[in-house]
Amino acid sequence: MFKKILIANRGEIACRVIKTARCMGIATVAVYSEADANARHVRLADEAVLIGPPAARESYLVAERILEVAKRTGAEAIHPGYGFLSENADFAEACEKAGIVFIGPPASAIRAMGSKSAAKALMEKARVPLTPGYHGDNQDPAFLATQAERIGYPVLIKATAGGGGKGMRRVDQGSEFEAALASCKREASNAFGDDRVLVEKYIVKPRHIEIQVFGDRHGNCVYLFERDCSVQRRYQKVLEEAPAPGMTPERRAAMGQAAVDAAKAVGYVGAGTVEFIATQDGNFFFMEMNTRLQVEHPVTEMVTGLDLVEWQLRVASGEPLPLKQQQLELNGHAMEARIYAEDPARGFLPSTGRLVHLSPPRESNDVRVDTGVEQGDEITPHYDPMIAKLIVWGADRRQALARMRQALAQYRVVGVSNNIDFLTRLVAVPSFASGQLDTGLIEREQALLFPTDSDVSADVWMLAALAELLLEQRMAGKKRAGSVAPDSPWYALDGWRLNGRAERRLVFRFGEASQEVGVEVVPGGYWLRVGSQRLLARGKLGTDSELQAQLGERRFQAAVVASGERRHLFLEGRSWPLALVDTLHVGGAGEEETGGLRAPMPGKVLALLVKPGAVVEKGTPLLVLEAMKMEHTICAPRKGVVKAFRFALGDLVSDGTELLDLDEVP
Ligand code: ADP
Repeated sequence: MFKKILIANRGEIACRVIKTARCMGIATVAVYSEADANARHVRLADEAVLIGPPAARESYLVAERILEVAKRTGAEAIHPGYGFLSENADFAEACEKAGIVFIGPPASAIRAMGSKSAAKALMEKARVPLTPGYHGDNQDPAFLATQAERIGYPVLIKATAGGGGKGMRRVDQGSEFEAALASCKREASNAFGDDRVLVEKYIVKPRHIEIQVFGDRHGNCVYLFERDCSVQRRYQKVLEEAPAPGMTPERRAAMGQAAVDAAKAVGYVGAGTVEFIATQDGNFFFMEMNTRLQVEHPVTEMVTGLDLVEWQLRVASGEPLPLKQQQLELNGHAMEARIYAEDPARGFLPSTGRLVHLSPPRESNDVRVDTGVEQGDEITPHYDPMIAKLIVWGADRRQALARMRQALAQYRVVGVSNNIDFLTRLVAVPSFASGQLDTGLIEREQALLFPTDSDVSADVWMLAALAELLLEQRMAGKKRAGSVAPDSPWYALDGWRLNGRAERRLVFRFGEASQEVGVEVVPGGYWLRVGSQRLLARGKLGTDSELQAQLGERRFQAAVVASGERRHLFLEGRSWPLALVDTLHVGGAGEEETGGLRAPMPGKVLALLVKPGAVVEKGTPLLVLEAMKMEHTICAPRKGVVKAFRFALGDLVSDGTELLDLDEVP
C-alpha cells in the first residue's frame, strides 16, 4: 500500500479522501489555490502546497505543477477526486510517465468513454443496450435531420464532448430541428471546443439510473448496485438514492451485468459509473460512463457498508478487489441531498459569502455529512458552490426519507442563500415521497416547490420576538453580573413603568412584509400579540441558538441565529431571514464600537451616499445595500472622516465584510 498520496482536488471530496487515507495510515498531501489557503482540506492534510491563483485553470487544472508537487513531496500516487483533472486522459498518462500512480482507470479507458459517440459505438459492439439514435461521423445538418425523422420525434441532440448537462437540446418536431442543431453546436463549441453532436430518441418521463462498477488489474469487475438520480434540475442531480424505487432483482442483475460488460469493453480499472436512462416500463439504455468516483458515491457506501475510496486505493496499489460479486450485499436504503449555496427562487443562482453560522445535523451511523467547509469559511465565486452532501440511511425508503426530513430540519446555514428549504419541500412532495420518480419531477412540481405566497404565520413572528426577548434577558444578565450594583432596577427588563402597565413593541420585517409584535412582561414569560392574536409565550434559549418555546399550549423546537440586524428563524425544516427593525437595544459591552461598517448580510451595493473625504456625524447614512430584495442603509457608527469605500456601485459584498474606512477626525 502507498505511504503517501497527493490529492489533486479541493472541498468536500479532498476531505473525503483524506479521511480514508488517514484510517489506512496513508499520509496526505493537499494542494491549494490562493483562495483556499485556509480551506478545510488544507487544515486536514498532513502537508499542503500552494499551487497558484484562485482560478482553477491556473491552479487545480495545472497538471505539470501538481505532478511537480507530487514528486517533490514524495507522493507515490495522485487521487484526482471528481471534476478538475479526474477525467483528463493526458493527465493520467503524464502521471504514469512520471512514475506516479493515477488513482483511476487507465488513460485508454478515459479516452474511450470521453466522447459520447465513440463510447456508444464501443458499447454497441459490447452488446450494451443503447438509446436508438445516430452517433456516426456525418455532421451534415440535412443528413442529421433525416436521421431525426428515422429515429422519430421527440429527439435529443447531444454534444459528443458534452458533460454537466451542457450542450443538449430536445426537439419535438422537424421544423425546429435546424435551429436547435445550430444552437446546440454553438453551445458545444463554446463549452467544449468541439461542435460534433449525436442525435438520439428523447425518452419521455425517463429515469436516470446508474450502476457503480469496480474493476481491478487482475481482470475482476463487479457492480455495486444502482443509484437512482432521477431528481434533477436542468439535467443536474439534486437528490440521489439507492436502491432505485421499484427496482426488481432481475432488472438489477441485468443492468449490473450490462454495466460490467461496458466496463470490461474498455479494460476498466478502479471506480466507475455506468449511467443508464430507463423508461417507466423498465427498459434501460446506456447513456455514458463516468470514469471516476461520483459525487453521490456515499449513497452506495451506506447501502453496501463499504468504503469506496479504500477500494480505490487498494486497486490502485495493485491489490485484487476485496470482494466477489456474490459477496456483495445491499442493505436498507440511502439518500443523498446536495446542500448548495444557491438561491432556488432566483433560478438557482449561486450565492457567495461567508458562512456566518453553519450548524449541520449531528452525524451518526445513519446520518453523514460530507463537507469541505466550516463555520466562518467563505463560499467563493471561484468554485462549485456546494456546501455539503447530506446522506442518510434507513432500514427502508420510508425511514430514510423520515431521517432526511429530520436532518434537513436540523441543518442551519446563515450567510449565503441556500437550498435547504427547497430540499425540505422536495422530500415532502407526494410524488417524490411515494417514489414516482422521473427527471421532470422538479419541473412538474413547481407549484409545491416554489410557493408564491410569502405569508409568515403568527407563530413565526412570535417565536422571533420571544427569542429576541430571551436574548436581551441573557445580555442584561451578563451586564448585571459584571456591574457594581447587580440588583439595580435599571437592569430589570420587566417593562415596569412608573405609570402602570405598558406594552412594548418589536417590529420585524420579512421581504416586503413587516409585523409588529406587542410584548407585555409577566412573571416567567411574555404576553405576545400579533394582530388580534394574543398568546402567553415562554421559552429557553440554548447554547447553539436553539429555542425551546411554548406559545399558549403548543410547544416548538426552533432556532434563531442573529447576524447583524438579521434574525434567521429556523422552524420545522424552513427558515425565515427576518430583520429586526426596532428594539430596546441592550448590546453587550463594546458592541456599539464594532460591526457598524460591515455588511450585515450578503448583498449588492446600491448607492454610495457620501464622497470620500467627507466628515460625517454619528448616524449619517453612508451606503445602501440591497439584499434579499430589501434595502439596508449603513450609517456612521461614530463621527469620522470617510477615507475610502472598499466597493463600487453594483459590487456584490459578502456577509461581514468591511465596507469602508472611517478615520478619526484629525
Ligand atoms: P451529461 O454528460 O451532460 O451529464 P448525460 O448524457 O449524462 O449528459 O445526460 C444528462 C441527463 O440528461 C440525464 O440524466 C437525463 O436526465 C437527460 N437525458 C440524457 N439523454 C436523454 C434522452 N435520450 N432522453 C431524455 N433525457 C435524456
